[in-house]
Amino acid sequence: MKMVSACLAGINCRYDGENKENMVLKNLVIQGEAVALCPEVMGGLATPRLPAEIVGGDGEAVWCGQARVIDQAGNDVTKAYLAGAEKALKMLQQLGIDTVILKEKSPSCGACHIYDGTFTGKTKAGLGVAAALFKRNGINVRSDENFNEQTG
Ligand code: SF4
Repeated sequence: MKMVSACLAGINCRYDGENKENMVLKNLVIQGEAVALCPEVMGGLATPRLPAEIVGGDGEAVWCGQARVIDQAGNDVTKAYLAGAEKALKMLQQLGIDTVILKEKSPSCGACHIYDGTFTGKTKAGLGVAAALFKRNGINVRSDENFNEQTG
């Protein structure tokens, strides 16, 4: 069993109320081979919501208390991101999920890259907040950009 970012499964949970449907990943959910979760919604954030980026590092730095998640209006939304990641991890553990396929560049789900905290569309290498927590807990974190079903 796998988990995929809910927006990749076609669920309108992105900050802008839209999704990033990927038919291969959506079909995994339809066939019962994956579950779709959105850490930001699980953290209590509304949809739509203001876009947010990690300032001062990446998701790993957020867990170390060295970076924060800030929305476009300057509000510190770190607490909701941490809570959502923890809830999602708990669900992965309850379901015995060891592999997740996450939406690249998201401040929660980014698996290799995230936006750089300047709201200018630039990215930097790093993990999102949920991706970092999953990785810390031994979960195989993969990106939607290079996910290949044949490699499992
Ligand atoms: S938190 Fe993850 S699942 Fe939710 S909208 Fe962002 S990228 Fe998609």
